[in-house]
Amino acid sequence: MAKQESLELIRKKITEEMKCPLKDAATHLVFGKGNPDAKILFIGEAPGAQEDLKGIPFVGSAGRELDKLLHSIGLSPDDVYIANILKYRPPENRNPTMEEIKRHTPYLIEQIKVIQPKIVVTLGNFSTKFVLADFNPENMKSIGGITFLHGKPVEKKIDGLPFLVFPLYHPAAILYNPKLRKELEDDFLKIKSYL
Ligand code: URA
Repeated sequence: MAKQESLELIRKKITEEMKCPLKDAATHLVFGKGNPDAKILFIGEAPGAQEDLKGIPFVGSAGRELDKLLHSIGLSPDDVYIANILKYRPPENRNPTMEEIKRHTPYLIEQIKVIQPKIVVTLGNFSTKFVLADFNPENMKSIGGITFLHGKPVEKKIDGLPFLVFPLYHPAAILYNPKLRKELEDDFLKIKSYL
């Protein structure tokens, strides 16, 4: 089955089976966007207001930053795949709870297994901890923070297939802390050498 078809089946499962109060409050499911055959998968945290309205990840201000960063290494959003830990928007953009992470991430794991990326770029603390904890939310507590982990690639496997995790600051972080911009831009350039 083509990757796009397999992803559509996962999307269907989320709309039909997944139970989560966020689902009832949200306007749209925010499943993922981009190229299912991409070598690079970006994982963000959760949809914000714009994403919830459009049903597409990273279309607001953080998305504009991400697009600029992608262009800085010669990529467009269509060259990569972009998904989130949470598939529905948390109210007021609050942090995801452990309960929500546990309900949503089985579908993210399915997305990763279909896409089979060579590089997984984790944006911010939640996705970094989840992936470095070998996709086990219970173990996220044992993983350090993004301040220490950003820009340092780590080798991991899923279903026996190796991939490189590349933890980065979340693009939204540079909007409220402009001092991080240079670090994020420099980290992004490092990805280029792995393409
Ligand atoms: N921030 C995220 O982590 N994901 C989005 O889709 C938008 C903003």
